Formats: sequence, C-alpha cells, structure tokens
Amino acid sequence: MQGLKHYMFNALKRDEIKAELKTKKYDLLIIGGGITGAGILLDATSRGLSVVLIEKNDFASGTSSKSTKLIHGGLRYLKNFEFKLVKEVGKERAIAYNNAPHLVVPEKMILPIITNGSYSKFMTNIGLWIYDRLAGVKGQEKRKMLTKKQTLEIEPLLNKDSLLGSGYYAEYRTDDARLTLEIIKTAVNYKATAINYVNADSLEYSGETIIGANCTDILTNEPIQIIAKQVVNATGPWVDEIRTMDKSLNQKRLHLTKGVHIVVPHVKLPINNSIYFDTADKRMVFAIPRFEATYIGTTDTDFDGDKDNPGITSDDINYLLNAINSEFPSIKLNPSDIQSTWSGLRPLIHEEGKSPSELSRKDEIFVSPSGLITIAGGKLTGYRLMAKKVVDMVCSNLKVKHTCNTQNIKISGGEFDTPDLVNSFIFSIKSRLKTIGLDEKKAEYLVRTYGKKAQPIVEIFQKEQYENLCQAEAWFCLRYEMTISLIDFFERRTGKINFDSQNLSKEAKLVLPIFSSYLNWNEKKIKEEIERLDKEINKRLFFA
Ligand code: FAD
Repeated sequence: MQGLKHYMFNALKRDEIKAELKTKKYDLLIIGGGITGAGILLDATSRGLSVVLIEKNDFASGTSSKSTKLIHGGLRYLKNFEFKLVKEVGKERAIAYNNAPHLVVPEKMILPIITNGSYSKFMTNIGLWIYDRLAGVKGQEKRKMLTKKQTLEIEPLLNKDSLLGSGYYAEYRTDDARLTLEIIKTAVNYKATAINYVNADSLEYSGETIIGANCTDILTNEPIQIIAKQVVNATGPWVDEIRTMDKSLNQKRLHLTKGVHIVVPHVKLPINNSIYFDTADKRMVFAIPRFEATYIGTTDTDFDGDKDNPGITSDDINYLLNAINSEFPSIKLNPSDIQSTWSGLRPLIHEEGKSPSELSRKDEIFVSPSGLITIAGGKLTGYRLMAKKVVDMVCSNLKVKHTCNTQNIKISGGEFDTPDLVNSFIFSIKSRLKTIGLDEKKAEYLVRTYGKKAQPIVEIFQKEQYENLCQAEAWFCLRYEMTISLIDFFERRTGKINFDSQNLSKEAKLVLPIFSSYLNWNEKKIKEEIERLDKEINKRLFFA
C-alpha cells in the first residue's frame, strides 16, 4: 500500500516489543505517553539515543487528549507582561505549523470587547499588535480591530447589548491526541520503542542511582523490568506519584486544576469563528467550531480527587452553559443539548496563595538525588522546547554531544513541502471520494486526522470494498497506530466520541468485526469491549 511502512507500532507486535524491553539496556526510559513524553522520545531518538517510552493506559489518554486543542501564541501571558514567553511560544507555533500542517490549522479568533470586560479597546489593539509582532505573525494573519457593526456581521449571535467591537486575530487549532500519536509514530520510524498499557509500578536502583523501572503489562499482567542509563518522569498530573516512589517529593510539587469542556451540535451554537470571551467571574472561555460540532471550555478549579477519573459536576456544566448563554443570549443552551464532554487536569507547579487561573503555565525540570529527571507543567504548544531541554540534559549526563534537530523534522502524516499544500491535498481527496460515491465533506476530516495517510485509507476502502470509511480507518489504525480497544479508536485515534457522537453506535457495529478478527477477540472480549465503550459514552453525559 502506497506510503505505508511496516513498523513495530501494532498490537500484534507486543510480544516482540516486550522481549526487547526485557533484554535491551536503553540510553533512556521515558515514563508517560502524553505530549511531553512523545516530544522527548522523538528528540532523543533523532539524536541517535536508544530510547523507550511506556504509557500505563493508551497514548495521550491523560491531559494530552483533554485540552482546549489550541496551539496558542500565548495571548494571556501578555496580561502579565511575559513578553519573552509570548515570543518563544509564537516561534514554536510557527515550527509546529510547518512540521505538522495537517494537525496545526490556522484559525481566526474573535475577542469581543464588551462593557466592563477584561480587555478595553485600547488594550486589545495594543496587546494584539504586540502579540503579532512577538509571535512573528505576517500578512493576512495580522490582527484587525473590528467595530461593533463589523463584528455582528460575522458573528450575529454575540450579545448586542454589551458588545463594543472586537479584535480579530490568528490562532491555531489542533487535535491534541493525534498530535501526540503522530509524534510517537515519527519517533518509532526513527527506531524508538513505544508501548501503551504498560505501567511503571516501582523504580529500580543500583545503590542510590536510578537504573530503570519495574513495570506490568496491564493487558496480560506480565511483569517487565526495563533498564536504562537515564530515566525521565513525564507523567503529567502523576509526576508526584513517581517522585514519591523515588522518595524525592519535596516542597516543589504539583497543583492540579480541573478543566471541563462541553460539546454541542454546531447547529445549536452556529458560530463562524472561534470566540474567546469574558465570563461573569472575570475569566475567559473559548467557543470553537469543529466539523459538525462546537465545543466550549474551560473551567479552572482546584482538584484533589481520582486523577484517572476527574469527572464532571453539574456545577461545571452550569458554569459553561451560563457563560455561553450570557455571551449568546438568543441561543439558550441547556444540558440536554450536550452531545459530549471531557475533563482534564492541568499539571501546574504549586505557588503559595495563588488562585487556579493565576498559576503559571511554565514548565519546570526537577532532578532528584537518584538522577530521576522529572518534567512538569508546560503546554502542548511548548512540547518541542521542553523536550529539547530534557534531552540536552540527558545527553550531557551521558557525555554525548548530539544537537537537537526537531525543528526540521516533519511529523508523520505532515510530509507536505509547504503548509499551504494541505488544502490542495484535501481538494484531491475530495474529488477521489466523489468519484467513488462517498461524501466529499469527509475529505477535510480525513486529511486533518491522518494527513498524507488519508490516501492509503481511501485505497483500503476501495480494495476491501467496505461500506463505510470508518472501516478503512479501523483497518489502518489497527495495523499502524497500536490501537488496542474500541475506546482507543473512537476517542484518541479519530475523536469521534466527542465530535461525531451521533454516528457512533452505527460505526461501532461496523468496525467491531474488523477489530475482533484482527485482534482475535472471543465472544466474552467482544461483550466487554461494547460495554466499556457504552460506559465511556455515558460517563461523558453524567454530571454528578
Ligand atoms: P499527560 O498528557 O497527562 O501525560 C502523562 C501520561 O503519563 C498519561 O497518559 C498517564 O497515563 C501516564 N502515566 C502516569 N503514570 C504512569 C505510570 N506509572 N506508568 C506509565 N505511564 C504513566 N495546552 C496548550 O498548548 N493549548 C491548549 O489549548 C491547552 N488547553 C488545556 C486545557 C485544559 C483543560 C488542560 C487541563 C490543559 C490544557 N493545556 C493546553 C495544557 C496541555 O494539555 C498539557 O500541558 C499537556 O497535555 C500535558 O501533557 P503531559 O504529557 O505532560 O501529561
């Protein structure tokens, strides 16, 4: 099949991968398969280190599939005059766009200016001007200031009573889980090893020095010891658990805050652009259109419950619905309009006396006396620089001189010479879908999800004579994306659980035979998988 390489990123290869884990001595072991671990994996392997990443659940199942899915230029940092940070993330945003243009998509954002709002007209104008300059925004992408009339022409649903005008500026949206996965796939193409559903239970030492981890394959209960010269803890909200295993948890620790998003059908909140608006309690919330849906978020509240299941309360839901209904008064959304939700934890660094929204989003590295390197905090947007800092440190510890080159590495699926070629590729997939009698609208989804791999997926659809594209996607994700369960597929490989939930039960029935024959599921396993998927869907619509 054109464009597909066969590599060790497939559930049927798990035994081979585990045999390697048990015998090889790696330069680096990374614990945690979110965006932070993924970035470190790619950086380390592309510098020639032998490196392995383990993830206790599915890749990106932690915070890295629960974000607002924006590659920010960091506008909010301007409020605290953090100019250096804005410049840095602006540059990173441009690199991400260049290397993964199918997944980092320019998106116009509207910042409504309202009576008694967070930003005055003057401040918005100056702020966005500085923002564009620091982030290196050019040409048509540069900010514009719109009058009230101009704003209402493009977004007629905004509250006319409080609106004074708006700032219209450039941001980028992404798919956080796919970005994480594609970075891991890119690393595996470089010969890195990555495996999901392997938990680090305890750490292994030689004397006082850390030399690896004792792990369990969650799917088989098999113990696996992994030995490495260096160990990085990239477990996001869980970093303090690993630091506790290492007996190195000190005053510097995490402060977790919970962020909830809700998804409604786009017809219920038919906005044309992303909107970043004020709430009654002086925070800011996003409303973002995506395919046939609009999502809204986020909340920001202190959290100390079950990290594996942060949950959603009716207070979270009411907060977001109230925010939307006061910004778009004609809409009148209510809980029954919600088609899905998600809830994630921000792994922020604790600062005494600060409220959740005031805590810095900066990343920090802690090195323990045993040599365990922990990286915490940060954003999706800064993943590459965070990885660079960690791998520079690892290389220095290993006394090897390899320089970081990730700014020039195309991320799997994003192998376009220039970002503007993505649109012509979407166009070519559109005409292909039309020729074979499929809905052309799926082209945008396919390319924004799989990039260049959209083409082999369409070829598989034809070759296997499937009745629905989702079957070709399942075929592909099973063979090339280490997909183990229906939830992996519907949540993190395709995002359908959030953004296409109305077709979910039909598609689940269609892909089930493909999963069960490829992964050799028996009747009991099939039943369990269906129950788990149902539970996951219901969880998203249950507000305690
Ligand atoms: P995670 O993604 O949580 O990954 C850590 C992984 O470690 C998990 O998958 C977990 O299962 C695994 N793990 C834990 N313990 C073990 C163990 N013992 N063994 C093996 N594996 C283990 N950033 C942006 O740039 N743009 C945004 O729009 C944005 N919006 C956000 C909105 C919300 C609500 C939140 C919460 C965050 C947002 N962020 C955003 C921040 C960004 O999402 C996070 O900084 C980032 O995803 C953290 O990634 P991570 O890899 O450090 O953690």
